[in-house]
Order: sequence, then structure tokens, then C-alpha cells
Amino acid sequence: QAPVLRELALSEPITRDDVRVVVRANVDIPEEAELAAGSGAEGVGLMRTEFLVVGRASMPDEEEQYRSYKRVLLAFGNRPVVIRTFDIGGDKLPVGGFPTEPNPFLGWRAIRMCLDESDLFKVQLRALLRAAVHGDLRIMLPLVVTVDEVRETRQLIAEAVAELSARRVPFRDDVPLGVMVETPAAAIACDTLVRDVDFFSIGSNDLVQYTLAVDRGNANLAPRFTPFHPAVLRLMAQVQSTGEANGIDVCVCGEMASQPLAVFALMGLGIRQLSVAPRAVADVKRIIRGVRAGAAEDAARAAMQAGTAREAEILLRRRLRAEL
Ligand code: PEP
Ligand code: MG
Repeated sequence: QAPVLRELALSEPITRDDVRVVVRANVDIPEEAELAAGSGAEGVGLMRTEFLVVGRASMPDEEEQYRSYKRVLLAFGNRPVVIRTFDIGGDKLPVGGFPTEPNPFLGWRAIRMCLDESDLFKVQLRALLRAAVHGDLRIMLPLVVTVDEVRETRQLIAEAVAELSARRVPFRDDVPLGVMVETPAAAIACDTLVRDVDFFSIGSNDLVQYTLAVDRGNANLAPRFTPFHPAVLRLMAQVQSTGEANGIDVCVCGEMASQPLAVFALMGLGIRQLSVAPRAVADVKRIIRGVRAGAAEDAARAAMQAGTAREAEILLRRRLRAEL
């Protein structure tokens, strides 16, 4: 990284009107942990755990998982590390042994599969609770559509705690539990989740996919896959305001959080926590430090009332250029 970029990456993400934003990093494999820890990010907002499964023929045991999670926690010291439980299925498939489905994105996947295969899920939960002694770990559930999924997970965590106690190994039983808000159901009814969760993280990749009914991986649809559609912006604004009203932190950890224009839009929606690709930290901080949150809020209000994604994007682009 060039010295100016390096300086920017390590700078405080504060807007010109003194609003502090938290910028964390997304981590996909433990080998990225040390790089991400030096990227200027204040912790990990999303660690995906599919690397343990995708492309492999068997599930990793508790020990292997524990070692992987521990590596990331040690790299980040006392900074928060949000680790997401297995989001298998859809675009993230293991080798063999997984049912082929006519509609994988609407199928038996992520938290649904984990709750049905609770023995497998508990291996991961035990590894996470054990790794939690090495730092500030928080557990996050993917693809949640109902609070029942959170309650069932809490029940399995209680069982995992009992099993670890019986084994007399070190672990923590007070690990915060949050959810990805990445389905329209979770976003629209996020008020039904607030009593049972410790934090929200908006997964814009899937939220865009499910809200606009646009396959996130289909190249023919790429121009239609946009977080600037007023429906998506309004859903995210609703999650932010419901979280804020209930004292629940709201982060955005999808790809949009790494894009300058989208950062401006998210600031405008009231979002104050972003989790981004480690290499995007400098650019994201450049936007945060270059704008006023008040101006972003005016722009986002107008964008939410735009007729189309294109209109919203043009409007946001014009307002951002005027700020920088
Ligand atoms: C998302 O859906 O926005 C997200 C962050 O998760 P993933 O890309 O792993 O589905
Ligand atoms: Mg997702």
C-alpha cells in the first residue's frame, strides 16, 4: 500500500460533522486474519466459516474448527470478532453428500440445515464457545427468517455449554448472539427479533437478491442487481431505525459496504457500522472522512423517494461529488 493510503487506512473514521463510524473487516479464511488485523479495521464484522466445508468431502471436527477460530481471535486481540455459523447451500456447496435442489437459494440451507442437523451444528457451537476465551467473539446466524431459529439456537448453545462443562475444558457461556438480516422477512419484521438477539448485520448481497428476485450470481442480471433500488434502501432504513430504537447495533457486511457511493448512502440511512473487504478499508474511510453525515442523510431521504434505482444512484452520485 502507498504511504498515503496506509495513513488513510489507519485514520479515524469520523465525518466532517463529527459522526464516528465503526469500520470492521470481512474475513473468509483464517489465513487472512493477520492481514485484516493490520488493515486499519476495528475488528471483524463477518467471518465466514464455509471454508471449513466448501470443496471438502467431510465435516471438520471440533478441534480443527476451534484452531481456525482461535487464530482469528488472537490476531485481533480485544477487538470484536463476529463469526457466522455455517451458511452452506445456495452458492456455497460442499463436495458430495449435499442434496441437489430445484431452487438452492430457497432451499435447505444455512440456519435451516444447521437446526435440522443439530449434532453437526453443536460441533461448531462448542468450537466457538471454546475459542471465545481468546478474545471478544460474537456468534452470528445466517439467513434467519423467524425468531424461532434464534430460540432453537439458544437451546443448542445451552446443550453445548452443558457438554463442555462435563468435559471440563475452558469456554465462555456469555457469547453475544446476533443475526444476519438478509431476507425481506427478517428486515420487514425485524421488530420481532429484537428481544432475542444482541445485534443485527445486514447482508446486502442476499437482501438485494431476495428483495429484487435477482440471482446474485447470474451475469445476465448483473445490471439489475443493485442496492440502490428504493425498496432495498427503505428496508435497510427500517432495520437501522428499529435497531436504534431498541438498542441493537446494526452493521452492514455485504459487498455494498465496500463501495464508495454505497458507503455514502448507508451513512445517510443512519448506518454507523460497516464491515468491508480488508483492501477497501482505506477507501471507505476516505468517504467517511470526506462527507457530512447530515448531507448523507438528506441525500438518502431523497434517494428513498426516487422512482427507480437509477434515479437514486444518479442523485446520490451528484450529492457525494458535491461533498468531496
Ligand atoms: C450477504 O448476503 O450480504 C453476506 C454478507 O453474506 P454472503 O455474501 O456470504 O451470503
Ligand atoms: Mg448472505
